[in-house]
Amino acid sequence: MKKSDLQAKNIKNNIKIKKSYKNVTLFNTKSATLLLTKFRTEDKMKDIIGRISSVETMGTVDGPGVRYVLFMQGCNLRCKYCHNPETWAHDGKCLKFTPGTMVRRILRYKSYMGKDGGVTFSGGEPLLQPEFVTALLKLCKFHGMHTAIDTAGVGGEHIGDILNNTDLVILDVKATNAEEYKKITGFSMDKFNEFLKILDTKPCKVWLRQVIVPGINDTEEKVLSLKDFAKKIKNVEKIELLPYKTLGVHKYEKLGIPYPLKAVPDMDEERLEELQKLLKV
Ligand code: SF4
Repeated sequence: MKKSDLQAKNIKNNIKIKKSYKNVTLFNTKSATLLLTKFRTEDKMKDIIGRISSVETMGTVDGPGVRYVLFMQGCNLRCKYCHNPETWAHDGKCLKFTPGTMVRRILRYKSYMGKDGGVTFSGGEPLLQPEFVTALLKLCKFHGMHTAIDTAGVGGEHIGDILNNTDLVILDVKATNAEEYKKITGFSMDKFNEFLKILDTKPCKVWLRQVIVPGINDTEEKVLSLKDFAKKIKNVEKIELLPYKTLGVHKYEKLGIPYPLKAVPDMDEERLEELQKLLKV
């Protein structure tokens, strides 16, 4: 190579090096600290294992927009109309992931989420795996994703940590008084009431939901009491009534669990619409 060609090549290489150095500098100043925090956080999270019953990669009913939905394994309630009895057992058949592995899976779908979508933790009961759920929520927030939990509000400790990283709480209100709550879930309302107290201290948006079951809570009186209940909760954006469906009955048969609502038909959609109108303000 001639000396002049060599000089020209060196100059070109220098320019390339300077350009890439500039990129490195920009990258360092803007993102490296955040990335370092993320890697350190992920490293700390590598021993946390989440138990997940199943996932839905493009859900459209559990929160705004298109969502990655994780159905967590384990629930302490026994709602009469539950259509996911396979999620009850804490040690039931499930997928096991660390938060780091799970967030990488979720990120594959981030481009489908658009500006409204995000990630929803459903169940089972997401509050019962606070370490995993909090860690994964933090990673989702780090990656700029909207976060929601779909919960019955019955968990153990560290609920505040979960809510600190949650944009939207989809709260399944089983009943608004202790007697009916026990009839539907088999348990006392105390933990639910504790959850409400913690929720009241957080800025999360709230959607309230109630499953309407013929002969159990399909009356105007009960729907109006849900409306009153909603007035006591902060940041409620909407109240949705969901129709009871007999869809999950075959799961009970498969699991050998007696189905408690055998004689109850699907909720009539027209009646449900009438009841939903009572919730308009
Ligand atoms: S809280 Fe949800 S998962 Fe648990 S029993 Fe009730 S309906 Fe089923």
